[in-house]
Amino acid sequence: MFSFLKDRRRAALRAEPLTPDERATIDKNVPYASRLDDADRKELEGLVKIFLAEKSFEGCGGLEITEEIQVTIAALACVLLLHRETDIYPGVDAILVYPSAYRAPSARAEGGVVIEGEQARLGESWTRGVVVLAWDHVKSGAAQPADGQNVVLHEFAHQLDGEDGAMDGAPDLGARARYTSWAHVLGAEFSELSAKLHAGRGSDIDSYGATSPAEFFAVVTEMFFEKPRALKRRHPELYEELATFYKQDPAERSSSLAARRP
Ligand SMILES: [Zn+2]
Repeated sequence: MFSFLKDRRRAALRAEPLTPDERATIDKNVPYASRLDDADRKELEGLVKIFLAEKSFEGCGGLEITEEIQVTIAALACVLLLHRETDIYPGVDAILVYPSAYRAPSARAEGGVVIEGEQARLGESWTRGVVVLAWDHVKSGAAQPADGQNVVLHEFAHQLDGEDGAMDGAPDLGARARYTSWAHVLGAEFSELSAKLHAGRGSDIDSYGATSPAEFFAVVTEMFFEKPRALKRRHPELYEELATFYKQDPAERSSSLAARRP
């Protein structure tokens, strides 16, 4: 209902440019955004404007929310939305940010929650409206954009996964036929990861991905954006599935960038 009002409000938000400070924060903390071409960067900034206007941020554990916190989280979350028809995380109303890895009361662990880590939590995605993040981990993820770990990409991948009603490792893929290929490829990779860990062997995919299909999807999303060339080389089918879903080709982007370097 009233979606035309929402569309109009969003169009106005998109038309308004980010401030130079907001742009500088994105360049500093979201290197992926600096590699986008002009059209994609413009699309990303429009999504960020809407995200900032529609989501509330709440500092927890004494943390004061700053523009850097808001813009960094918004830009990383919106990287996952480029090129897609999106209602911009309609299930997320609020982002709670703690200064560092935090301990949540156990009551919070009930129902509809994906909780990361055992005691000290880096982030959580609640199916009802809330994402919880630890700012020090957001910042360290931003400082190391090629280590395959980024808690914001991870938590918002859970949100995309949950948009079809279930956080089960299969987001809304559109055409029915896509599910067969997704289940085949991600299922095989998930089983292979679990088998490797069982056998005491390491894997280039973070072992946390073996926790469940939902965690697998979140973990390979981090790798897709942060180690795209390695993922494509070692897991080409998995890379293809993710490239089709995310409508982006970060391996191509990072290799063309490498080619341009003297
Ligand atoms: Zn997770």
